[in-house]
Amino acid sequence: MDLSGKAAIVTGGADGIGLASAERMAQLGARVMLVDIDADKLDAAVSRMKALGHEVVGQHADVSDEGDVRAYVEAAKSHFGRIDGFFNNAGIIPRYYGVLWDCPADDFDRTIAVNVRGVFLGLKYVIPVMIAQGGGAIVNTASMGAAGGIPGSSPYVASKHAVVGLTKNAALEAATAKVRVNAVLPGNIVTRMSGLGTPGEKANQERLAAMVPAGHMGMPSDIAEAVCFLMSDAATYITGIELPVDGGILAASYGNM
Ligand code: NAD
Repeated sequence: MDLSGKAAIVTGGADGIGLASAERMAQLGARVMLVDIDADKLDAAVSRMKALGHEVVGQHADVSDEGDVRAYVEAAKSHFGRIDGFFNNAGIIPRYYGVLWDCPADDFDRTIAVNVRGVFLGLKYVIPVMIAQGGGAIVNTASMGAAGGIPGSSPYVASKHAVVGLTKNAALEAATAKVRVNAVLPGNIVTRMSGLGTPGEKANQERLAAMVPAGHMGMPSDIAEAVCFLMSDAATYITGIELPVDGGILAASYGNM
């Protein structure tokens, strides 16, 4: 894979899957803008990538805020002159975990705001830039929760099904303009969000790992490789797909965690 000469935006870029993907993009030659709501983590991530010799800038933004999204797209355009790759990745899990009928509406609303509105706004403002420059590649982060239910996680599952819907529609509408739009569906990945990276979660991690056909949890770098492939020219004829990166979970019929 080669991303040299390309400029990319990564939302949720200060941690986890976003940061690992940004680092891999930079290793493959891309210039990268990290976008994140957490200013301290963002500064730390930018410093870490600069120390590795990568060309990187940070932009503080809440992806659910239209003004912030307009601003990060404008900042990327003025900094890089173009946007070749867009990893539309920022997402949250709601505080509430439990049955749908006890779920606070506020938790549902915030999950949809970040995971769906945030992805929608990113597509809305990045695609015209890519069309104007003659093409580009977008990867949205869905989840294996986009392929079926996960009891206890209704807002999250609904939001990730919506990400796949947005991916397919945007792919169809932008295909002739050479803008490709795909989705990755991570399985259980060891990050802060999944809470699977902490020692206290060891038992949970072992339980979940036992359900993965590959026999172990995924790492952010596993998702990064798939994202960089979909963003690269090696994937020029691939658009509108949902790519599970899950150690085989969705190949089995026991995908519910
Ligand atoms: P993470 O918590 O490690 O990183 C997410 C980053 O997004 C954080 O830096 C956070 O500050 C940022 N963020 C949160 N809300 C934001 C907002 N409103 N605006 C801008 N930035 C915001 O999580 P992760 O595990 O790396 O998750 C990344 C994506 O992968 C998410 O969309 C998540 O739903 C998806 N995913 C994760 C897993 C997993 O097991 N970790 C599985 C499936 C899908």
